[in-house]
Amino acid sequence: NLKKHFHMQSPIPFKKSSQSVKAVDGLDFDVYPGETLGVVGESGCGKSTMARLVNQLITPSEGTVEFKGSNLVEMNAQELRASRKSIQMVFQDPYASLDPRKKVGELIAEPLLIHNVGDQSSRKKRVQYLLEVVGLEGFHAERYPHEFSGGQRQRINIARALVLNPDVIICDEPVSALDVSVQAQVINLLKRLQKEFDLTYIFISHDLNVVRYMCDRIAVMYLGKIVEMGTYQEVYNDPQHPYTKALLSAVPKESPHDDKNRVILKGSVPSPINPPSGCHFHERCPVAMEMCKSIVPELQDVENGSVASCHLLNKNQEEL
Ligand code: SF4
Ligand code: MG
Repeated sequence: NLKKHFHMQSPIPFKKSSQSVKAVDGLDFDVYPGETLGVVGESGCGKSTMARLVNQLITPSEGTVEFKGSNLVEMNAQELRASRKSIQMVFQDPYASLDPRKKVGELIAEPLLIHNVGDQSSRKKRVQYLLEVVGLEGFHAERYPHEFSGGQRQRINIARALVLNPDVIICDEPVSALDVSVQAQVINLLKRLQKEFDLTYIFISHDLNVVRYMCDRIAVMYLGKIVEMGTYQEVYNDPQHPYTKALLSAVPKESPHDDKNRVILKGSVPSPINPPSGCHFHERCPVAMEMCKSIVPELQDVENGSVASCHLLNKNQEEL
């Protein structure tokens, strides 16, 4: 039941605003060792906030984040520091995420310093080793971030995320800022590293093509909530939620004839400040019913094994 509501600043001084941004509004999900859980949705649906909550970069308004049986939310600073070693992040923007004043070697070694791991020579060796692991050469340690392309910088970020030997890496749109040709290289690298280092990924993306290639299970988010979650096969081959269907229909098809089933959504994601009543999706849903305006649909089990939240799931064919 993970929630993050940000309180808004009131325009009137010293008066507390009653408005809040419900960036993440009651998420429940598991991530299993060795898998890749894809999290998809349009921008503004709360994916990045979710990532920061899981890693405890921000604290939730409500709910728990359990890692290996312990609740990260209740940990003291020292315990949290130890757990953080196991959960690392790779961010979207390879330009903003590396300090331009530091050499690449220092940047990769920094987490080791922060966590007081090894001595200078062992740290140096680890940096050399990881640069090679991500497909760069050891001498690059002496260079500065501006000397590298976007794809190379993302490799440097990945080396930095690996340096503490984590169990989980949260990848927040790791290839969205890169050229399509470079995207495939970085994705293949992530896939190889997952096998080599026994990694678990939470892979956030708005691009269903990328997710399809990367993920075992997929969670679809809309306005701070998961609206559908299942295995890759369930979600791609038998989507249940009208929003998932619309997202999938927007993925370019190999044959233009397939495009006739395309669902065009009206408007963009509504504001999370005053989200629509009932089903958050009702204003844009092509099959919305009267009840959708007032009654919130809960996530429920679907026959095919996935879960989804839509009132249509409770209607049988005759009723429709
Ligand atoms: Fe559409 Fe209603 Fe289902 Fe929401 S609950 S997705 S508005 S049919
Ligand atoms: Mg984001």
